[in-house]
Order: sequence, then structure tokens, then C-alpha cells
Amino acid sequence: MLTGTDEHGEKILRSAEENGVSAKAWVDKLVHDEWLPLLATIDIDNQDFIRTTEERHKVNVQKFLQKVYDAGFIYQGSFKGAYCVGCEEYKNKNDLVDGEGEFAGQQVCSTHSKPVEMLEENNYFFKLSQFQQPLLDHYKENPNFIQPESAKNEVVSFVSMGLDDLSISRSKAKFDWGIDIPWDDSHITYVWFDALLNYITAIGYGQDDAKFEQYWPADIHIVGKEILRFHAVIWPAMLMAAGMELPKQIYGHGWLLVGGEKMSKSKLNGIVPEQITSVFGSDAFRYYFMKAINFGQDGSFSWEDLSARYQAELANGFGNLASRTIAMVKKYFDGVIPQPGEYLEIDKKLIAVAEKASADANRLMDEVAIGDAITAIWTLVDELNNYITVSEPWVLAKDEANTERLQTVLYCSSEGLRILNVLLNPIIPQAAAKLWAALTEGKLGELADQDISEAGNWGQLGSSRVSDLAVLFPRIESKDE
Ligand SMILES: [Zn+2]
Repeated sequence: MLTGTDEHGEKILRSAEENGVSAKAWVDKLVHDEWLPLLATIDIDNQDFIRTTEERHKVNVQKFLQKVYDAGFIYQGSFKGAYCVGCEEYKNKNDLVDGEGEFAGQQVCSTHSKPVEMLEENNYFFKLSQFQQPLLDHYKENPNFIQPESAKNEVVSFVSMGLDDLSISRSKAKFDWGIDIPWDDSHITYVWFDALLNYITAIGYGQDDAKFEQYWPADIHIVGKEILRFHAVIWPAMLMAAGMELPKQIYGHGWLLVGGEKMSKSKLNGIVPEQITSVFGSDAFRYYFMKAINFGQDGSFSWEDLSARYQAELANGFGNLASRTIAMVKKYFDGVIPQPGEYLEIDKKLIAVAEKASADANRLMDEVAIGDAITAIWTLVDELNNYITVSEPWVLAKDEANTERLQTVLYCSSEGLRILNVLLNPIIPQAAAKLWAALTEGKLGELADQDISEAGNWGQLGSSRVSDLAVLFPRIESKDE
């Protein structure tokens, strides 16, 4: 998993100037004060982080440009159009809407709600128009290349209308915060042509062929829907021009809305993750946004909904199941998970639910239906809670004649919990780590090494000794209590 920052372009340069610092100092500050801490705040497990100002990126962007230039896909020409600096993109009429408030009477960018600027330039152009048919063919032959379906339809109709060649350089006379065009140092590279190449420069393109071949083509690029066109049109055309394979899938995710508008810093309606994690913890943050909002669609955040789900689904549903199962193993079997006797119908039903939950979750994750995958996992949470209620281990414990049955019930409960533990590790890693430590005594190896696709194979838990389980989802005191 790769993420990173796109640091060149006029928008960044203007912000730096407004803040009275150099562009490099400005992006260094943003990366170190905001982006890297953000990843830690919500436990993102990325294996690399690329900045487009890094040498490994700049050098290999130039190699790529030279290759596409030598192949005849870049020429010099002039262009005039309406440019949105927020998007770093020329806009056509369909991308503009009537301005409101201070911009009433003007045409503004539909994403940024700010006026566009008329630019006329003499630049280098990429022959994007030549790739209209190859792109349409690729979309048709690879129906999952662009997802979700609504996003794909929009891209296909956009490309079907015809593509203009793309200006991929800016004269340094105008501004110079970017990567030099290798054959003409009076020009710098258009920020998107530079930024899109991060996906390959980070994995060794141009300098480490073995590494590059190991990771390319990428399985999936996950991008905001407002930048889907760059990823689903320009980027694959760039790769085609260089004679390279395309990523397997481009997934355009939706927006978080507040009061019906896109949540954004520039509109001052943002909620920073730390505001949520400082109260509910990062697991709840991750769980909430993966579960409550249909991935790929826009969704609204609500404190009330988050709080209700935290209590009902995480604390009462999963957290309570984990703590009472471990408590019963301690109380009735001195902390050693018992081995099961003969399985009854109720046990077999539990096993079937566990196997199905695991299989469904794996399939849905592959389809990037993350919320549905969590719903599938929760069928096992609910089944286990129900299983314990109906089996009444506290009643079985009163009569020694029921010892074998009690063993079976607590084995099944513990094994069900193991399956949940593995399936939920990518969703709520902090709680999963605590539970794994308490449940397995390290006998099944590291949690990170568990094969999630095999999680539902029943009977992996041996007779390990359980230990105290830290509270997974503590009670949140509201301010007026
Ligand atoms: Zn814009």
C-alpha cells in the first residue's frame, strides 16, 4: 500500500507565497505537521509514502517524459482556456457552474466554487486525442477497470465525446515550481503529468526493474471521485504511450458531506480526524467510516450515528462478546480453552455461519464493498452472542454432568472469536491486537501473519491459555453526565 503527496504546481506555490515561505519549506511543513501525523492518527498501514519532490520521483518522471517524447506523443503548440488553479486543470463549459455570493455573475469551478482564470500558453502537448479509441476499447474489455459503476459510466461518456490533446508543460517565465522538461529547461512539467507517475516511481520505475516488476501492474488505485478523470483517462493514456501495462482497477470514492456539501478545509466545514479519535479512538473512526458510508458513494457524517454505533455495535456487540467469552474460560476452565466434544445442531449452525461470514467478507473485500464485508462479519458477532445466550454456559456450569457440553460451548465461542479476530484486524487493529494477545497466547503466530482468506476454516484454536483482556471499547462519558 502506497500513499503520498503531490507537491508541485501553482496552487502549492501560491499557498507558500501567502504564508511567506518557499514552496519547499511549505510542503515540508505540510507533510511533517499534517499528512504523516494523520496516517498515524488513524493507524494507516502504508508500506511507502512518496513525495513528488523526492529525487527518486523527479529523475524517473524525466525518464518517462523523454521516452514518451521520443515515441512521438509530445509536440509543441499553443492553447487558450479556462483554468482552475484549485483543480490544476483546464475546464470545459460542462465543468463550470454559476457562482454564488461574492462570485455571483461569474462562472466558477463546480468542485471549488471559485472563479476560473483564462490562460493562453505556448506549451508542450501530449497527444491524448489519439487514445480515445484505445481507452474505450480498454474500458470495454476490462469491465472492472473503473469502479464503481456510476463513476465508470461518467468516464465512458466523457471519453466518448472526444479527447483534446493535453498541455503538459508550463513556461518557467510564469512559475517554476515543478520538474524540468528534460529536453527544454525553459519549461516545467504540468503537475498532474508529474504526480500521476508517483505510482510507478515509488516502486522502482527507471531504476529498480526487479522491484518494479514485482509490484506493477498495481491491483487498485483508490482516488477521490473528483480526480477520477485524471486516473481513468490521462494516466492510462500516458502508460499506453510509454508501452506499459495499466493498473488493474481505478476506484473513485465518494465525498464526506456536511450539511449536503463536500467536507473540505477550504470551505471551513471540515472535521479533523483527531477530533473524533481523541474521544472514540482510531478503531471507532475506521469502523464508522468503513461501515456507515457506502464506499464509492457520498455519505454524511453524524456524531449521533457514530456514538450510537460505537455503543451498540462495537462496545455491546463485539467488545462484550470478547470479554465475556474470555471471562467464562477463566472462570470455568482455569483460563485454558477447553477442547470440544460432540457437535450438536446449534454448534453446526454456528460453524456454518462462521464459514459463510468469512467467505462473504473475503469476496466483498475483493469487490471493494467494504461496508458490506463488515456487515457479513457482523453476522458472526450476532450469531455468537445469540449462541451464548441460548447455550447458557452459566447454567451448564452448575452440574458436572454437563462438563463436556460446557467445554464444547466455550470452545465454539472462543474459536468463533478467533475467526472474528482475524477478519477484523484490518478494520479495528487496536482492539484486534489486544484480543489476539489475550486469546491465543502467541501459539498461532503473529496476528499480521494470519491468512485472512483462511480465517473461516474451523478448528484452528488449540488449548491455549487466555489472559486478561483490556477493555476494547471503553464507555464514553458525555459532557453533561
Ligand atoms: Zn476546481
